[in-house]
Amino acid sequence: MARKSVLLIHTGGTLGMGQPEHRRLDLEPAEHLQRMLERVPELGEIADCDLIAPWNLDSSDVGPSHWQQLARAVVEQGGAGQPGGYAGIVVIHGTDTLAYAASALAFMLRNLDRPVIFTGSQRPLQAWRSDARANLAAAVEAATMDLPEVAIVFGDRVLRGCRATKVDASDYLAFDTPNLAPLGRIGVGIDLDRAVIRRPVGLFALAEELDRQVLGVTVFPGFDPALLVGVADSGAGLRVKALIVRAFGAGNVPIVGEHSLLPAIERMSARGVAVLIATQCLRGSAQLDLYAAGRALRDAGAISAGDMSFEAAATKAMWALAHPERSVAEWFATNLAGEVSL
Ligand code: ASP
Repeated sequence: MARKSVLLIHTGGTLGMGQPEHRRLDLEPAEHLQRMLERVPELGEIADCDLIAPWNLDSSDVGPSHWQQLARAVVEQGGAGQPGGYAGIVVIHGTDTLAYAASALAFMLRNLDRPVIFTGSQRPLQAWRSDARANLAAAVEAATMDLPEVAIVFGDRVLRGCRATKVDASDYLAFDTPNLAPLGRIGVGIDLDRAVIRRPVGLFALAEELDRQVLGVTVFPGFDPALLVGVADSGAGLRVKALIVRAFGAGNVPIVGEHSLLPAIERMSARGVAVLIATQCLRGSAQLDLYAAGRALRDAGAISAGDMSFEAAATKAMWALAHPERSVAEWFATNLAGEVSL
């Protein structure tokens, strides 16, 4: 069988950190790959690897313009959507915002035809007892498999990118998809659950536009809705186009007296703001037909984000606002990349 090739895209984070300053890309991609192959020699046994390093940042400083650049690299350098090219692409990314990047790419790369695997590590590759070596090798192996999704390989699991959330700041099992079983388990082999892996249903398309005018708010007892109105009405050319309310439980917010969020939400939706209700619980779903508060929110014009992670809801809202061929409500009633149970 012909050897497969994998494109590694190094974007920064702990995995590639050296001492003392890790923000600079002090190695050329060719040297960087060489170092990586020295530290993880099995990469060269698994596949023919090439490496590009478009930037080297802590992932707190990575955002929509980087995600767009990444999506273009997956297409233009990785060959996604075209015959040939690399069998798969591995994105090495800081773990802090990795789930946001993976979610954004899942929406941008429509009908993806090959694996785009995000990975990173909690300890640098060059540190002893690092998780980087195992994560990298598993990510490259997963990138050679029949897995046409944006996925995360981390610890002992393969996870759907647009369902994932970082659940631990230091544990080696840093990611989870609380509302979805893993796509695969990593042990002696990588066992993928073929029944849940998505397949393209049409032609590949790069849909990279994003609109950043999205605001997220976590509700808590005592939250003053006047603050929300203040932000929404602040003017100065700033306009909130989508508001994600992280509500209690199954989609509840205060609806009585001065703490009621309803007037603010009514006002915002009347002004054309897409108000999305997500749950702040790790598991479960915002269901706006279950309780009086949910029904009142729906009557005020709010839309349920169902069981989406906040990472997926925020990036999907950015994506939906930039694709006005459907309304945000219609996009949120559509399962784009396996991000929601409908
Ligand atoms: N602060 C780092 C980052 O997200 C953490 C990591 O990579 O684990 O870039």
